[in-house]
Formats: sequence, structure tokens, C-alpha cells
Amino acid sequence: MPVLRQIALLGNPVLRTPARPVPFPLSDEVRELIDDMLATMREADGVGIAAPQVHQSLAIFIVAPRPNPRYPDAVEGPPIVAINPEIVERSAEMVRGWEGCLSIPGLRGEVPRHRRILARYQDVRGEHVVREFEDFPARIFQHEDDHLRGVVFLDRMDDLRDLACEREYARRVAKG
Ligand SMILES: [Zn+2]
Repeated sequence: MPVLRQIALLGNPVLRTPARPVPFPLSDEVRELIDDMLATMREADGVGIAAPQVHQSLAIFIVAPRPNPRYPDAVEGPPIVAINPEIVERSAEMVRGWEGCLSIPGLRGEVPRHRRILARYQDVRGEHVVREFEDFPARIFQHEDDHLRGVVFLDRMDDLRDLACEREYARRVAKG
């Protein structure tokens, strides 16, 4: 049975530490970690989670776009577990979009991201995957990939005036 893990909050050094590569085959501990990350992400209504966010400095994250109370417009897809990921190409085109983070509760910020990326990673069996992402899944991928490098979305904002408390975000921005 998966266990809910405690989420590291902004200010915790683990969020500022580059994550270590994960060796294959995966250990039982790492398999359990991935199951627990999925459960913890779902419990918190997240659309992605990275291992450093549950205090494990390992190069693993999950991207799981789906509609939920925080992202009602998300298109549902099966969760992608990306291990030892690398973004190999980034579109010149940037798009701004609102992001939140389970490690930064209560805040939302408008963040510029590459609209399209080409990413390389390993799946849970160690198979190498090369895959293109665009729009919301690409945004999540870039957000989670940043977590593996000690970067949070606040660092990617070009204007901190585009930061909002979640309640104000829901009241003003989400209504257009
Ligand atoms: Zn985050």
C-alpha cells in the first residue's frame, strides 16, 4: 500500500539541491518511492511531483495532467514517470501561464515557459524514451525538471508582480 509522504516546503534545502541520477534496475525502495509520490500527488490535487518534494534527492518526477479543482482545463493523460530526465530541445516560442507548486502552498504565479520541448528520460523499466511535449504537459515537465535542479517556479518568473495568493487567483484570474 502506498504511503502519503510529507511534502518539503519552500525554505527546505532539499528543494535547492540538485538531485542524484537513479541507477537501474530500480531498488524496492525507489519503486515504493514512486508509488508513494503518485499517491501523495493525487491526495494534494497536484498534476506533477518531483522526488525532492518528498525529501528524496533523486532524479525522478511524475507528470500527470488531468482536470482537477486546481487545473479544471487540464486534458487527462496517463501519468508519466520520468527518471533521469533531460530536456534536449526547447522551442523558441515562449508562453506565459499560471503555475502553483505543492511546495509553495497558497501562491500562484504567471511563468514564461517554452511552448514545446523534446525530452529524454527512462521509464520504470529503464527503457529510454524520447518524447515531445507541448502546452500544459510541457509546462509541467519543465516545472518538475526544474525541481531536479534546485529551481522553483518563482525563479522563472520575470515579474514578481504576477504573483497572486490562491484565493485572489481563483476570484480574479480564473474567471478571466
Ligand atoms: Zn513544484
